[in-house]
Amino acid sequence: MSELTDLHAQVRICTLCLLSRSRTRAVPGEGPENATLMFIGEGPGFHEDKSGRPFVGAAGQFLEELLAGIGMSRDQVYITNVVKCRPPANRDPLPDEIEACRPYLDRQVELIRPRVIVTLGRYSMARYFPDAKISAVHGKPRKVGGVLYYPMFHPAAALHQPKYRHLVEEDMARIPGLLAEIDQISDSQKPDQIEQLSLF
Ligand code: URA
Ligand code: SF4
Repeated sequence: MSELTDLHAQVRICTLCLLSRSRTRAVPGEGPENATLMFIGEGPGFHEDKSGRPFVGAAGQFLEELLAGIGMSRDQVYITNVVKCRPPANRDPLPDEIEACRPYLDRQVELIRPRVIVTLGRYSMARYFPDAKISAVHGKPRKVGGVLYYPMFHPAAALHQPKYRHLVEEDMARIPGLLAEIDQISDSQKPDQIEQLSLF
């Protein structure tokens, strides 16, 4: 069993926060262990809680459409969430729940070592950039330690509010360029030698 598979198994039986009591199934995440591109959403919704898989409901379908728009499919990317268990009635995750779940996300990033991390929505953006405003920084990549962090609006926001749809599509369209850009930085370069080129 790989370390990532082992981590997924730990998440499935985790009781570190109260969300474990109301969940049906925990949703660790899925995708290739060597994915270059990682998406981090907020938390499982109704369908994710039932199936144990991330982004399988309406927002997930839209995410798949967005990926298809850049010639990619979901099996090429790793997809997970800030909290791995569904908050009751889809309420926002609480700070202590995010904190309790944080080590799992950190370990996923350590094991997968993606080159581009796309945060979907405020909560996953705040996980990396606590003081940023999503309306100001969406679509602006920030390079830290050899990884490009790229905040986007949550696809669910785009489903409910048409004005976001265009912005989400536009931001998604930049991802192939970001992947090409990060590819030029040689893997042998130490992360701390890489300049922060594109600050918010
Ligand atoms: N919304 C999220 O943020 N994550 C999911 O997995 C599904 C919907
Ligand atoms: Fe554990 Fe995270 Fe689920 Fe809380 S949300 S029970 S910390 S896996």
